[in-house]
Amino acid sequence: MGKIYLIDVTNRDGVQTAKLGLSKLAKTMINIYLNEMGVYQSEFGFPTTKHESNYLQANLKLAEMGVLRPIRLEGWIRATVEDVEKAFQMVPKIKDLNLSISTSKQMITGKFRGSKNEADILKMATEAMDAARAHGAETIGLNAEDASRTEIDFLLRFATAAKEHGADRVRYCDTLGYESPFTIYETCKLLAQEVEIPIELHCHGDLGMAVANSVAGAMGVIDGGQDAYINTTINGIGERAGNADLVAVILALKKAKGFAGKYKFGMPINLSKAWKICKYASYAFDVPIPVNQPGVGANAFAHASGIHADGVLKDPHNYELYNFKELGRGEPEIVETGREICSGEYSGISGFGHVMGKYDVEFASRDEAERVLELARFANVLAQKPLVADELQFIARYPDIAKELLALTPLD
Ligand SMILES: [Zn+2]
Repeated sequence: MGKIYLIDVTNRDGVQTAKLGLSKLAKTMINIYLNEMGVYQSEFGFPTTKHESNYLQANLKLAEMGVLRPIRLEGWIRATVEDVEKAFQMVPKIKDLNLSISTSKQMITGKFRGSKNEADILKMATEAMDAARAHGAETIGLNAEDASRTEIDFLLRFATAAKEHGADRVRYCDTLGYESPFTIYETCKLLAQEVEIPIELHCHGDLGMAVANSVAGAMGVIDGGQDAYINTTINGIGERAGNADLVAVILALKKAKGFAGKYKFGMPINLSKAWKICKYASYAFDVPIPVNQPGVGANAFAHASGIHADGVLKDPHNYELYNFKELGRGEPEIVETGREICSGEYSGISGFGHVMGKYDVEFASRDEAERVLELARFANVLAQKPLVADELQFIARYPDIAKELLALTPLD
């Protein structure tokens, strides 16, 4: 029986969302947290975008150092030979790629304006895949953008071509959030059965069904005999109404009626990191977590009404489906209510030493402290908010890597 793996796309779909973004240090922290959680792969950015280059290469170094292991770091590019060439030129050590191309009639005619037909799409995609392999790509996912509005015959031909050219997976993109759990189950089951290739589910929340569609699609893929890879984002942040929320997807697969114990993860998932990663992403994106968000919302375990409060006090199972401790909640958090010394882009050595001491970071010499302070200043320029303990500890521990990923000098 096939297994389920998670591919988190916060560092790609999340950051391309209108009005939102992350510093390169924040993207790095997210990769670290995803790795701790047991996420199979992070779509960590755009290898053909100049300002991503240093960050991507620094994170690949962290992978080489064993810091970002076993998570795979995969880049998103368009499925063109030109993008493949550019990606390997700019980020030579990249090993994992997803290549994206539109497959629906709407997109092919609406975007290419009559200059491309379905045969051209297949040709572009397969040539790009061949080029990626020739450059040494270890894994390739081929993305069918707008798959849910693509005629099934063409989608089957597209997935077959992907398989013939050595794709590891096909990404079924419900780009506009048009799917329903019933239809995505059937389509993805058929794709898995007919083409015999693992399928990625990429779902959006325009109709409020991103999580439901992701798990139903995964169920279809597994029932069709293949492994399923669900694309998630932290707190569901992504284009427009967002993507499938990472924690909600995990909860659905672990707890939902008919799923639990039947459809299984291919890697152990550490759900107890949920609280930390969601709080961090909320801070880094500057987007509050809704009070009613599954698992991590302020009200997810709150009870006020008489019958519920009485019931949950007698036995939590009366009104709670799972325990807050499973998500890493329940530990007290210190909120400063008096004097506060923060990190900032104009910090000096005295205040910085105080902040770092609070986080149990000690320096071997004043020179070392000065160097880390300088890096922290630059990180603050990019973040425009005080750095959190994990970020400061990361900079102190890996100053060379931090220096690299913070460098944003425009490249020629
Ligand atoms: Zn998307």
